Amino acid sequence: MYVRLLVVEDEPRVSRVLRQGLEEDGHAVDVTAYGEEAIWFATENAYSVIILDIMLPDIDGFEVCARLRAHKCWTPILMLTALEDVHNRAKGLDGGADDYLAKPFSFVELGARLRALARRGENPRPAVLSVGSLRLDPAARRAWRGSAELALTTRELRLLELFMSHPGEMLSRSRILEEIWDFAFDGGSNVVDQLVARLRRKVDHPFGTSDIETIRGAGYRLRIE
Ligand code: CA
Repeated sequence: MYVRLLVVEDEPRVSRVLRQGLEEDGHAVDVTAYGEEAIWFATENAYSVIILDIMLPDIDGFEVCARLRAHKCWTPILMLTALEDVHNRAKGLDGGADDYLAKPFSFVELGARLRALARRGENPRPAVLSVGSLRLDPAARRAWRGSAELALTTRELRLLELFMSHPGEMLSRSRILEEIWDFAFDGGSNVVDQLVARLRRKVDHPFGTSDIETIRGAGYRLRIE
């Protein structure tokens, strides 16, 4: 199976070895050392797999991954890192990476992971949203404040997802109405205020926070730190 690969790695020695080894296996390989350039490459070309280092000179691999997923680029991503700890692994996978390989790795191991990812193909999965100490996993329909899971109704979860998709942005009552109630709703903007109040009682009040701000006469905004 010959595939087209993007290698994002800033260590010249590692990227040279990767390119050489992968090309010897018959793959077509593009290489860049920069996160911003990787995003441009990946949105312009159809790769089977992206091999992505975490520590890069400009934006890091987590950011590259999150931005690709936000742009609805679902190419499988294999993250490389010298950091072997569990926290980074979880962070990478939460951010939308598909697999993870700790450096140093063997070519046999890399080849096996690449084949598995290329076979699996694109796997549309919205990335986990994170704003301050709030996290929300749209695919799993779950949300957390720090380590505490929030017990939200479907509509409360959708409102929180809307806020977290637009952090720091003012959302008008009519915008919230349109996004959360799928039909032409005639109940007035009061329902929005009630829903926001319920969400605050679960997301802010128990934690002594006031992240959901009222913009007088205009709407609401999720505060960013
Ligand atoms: Ca690096």
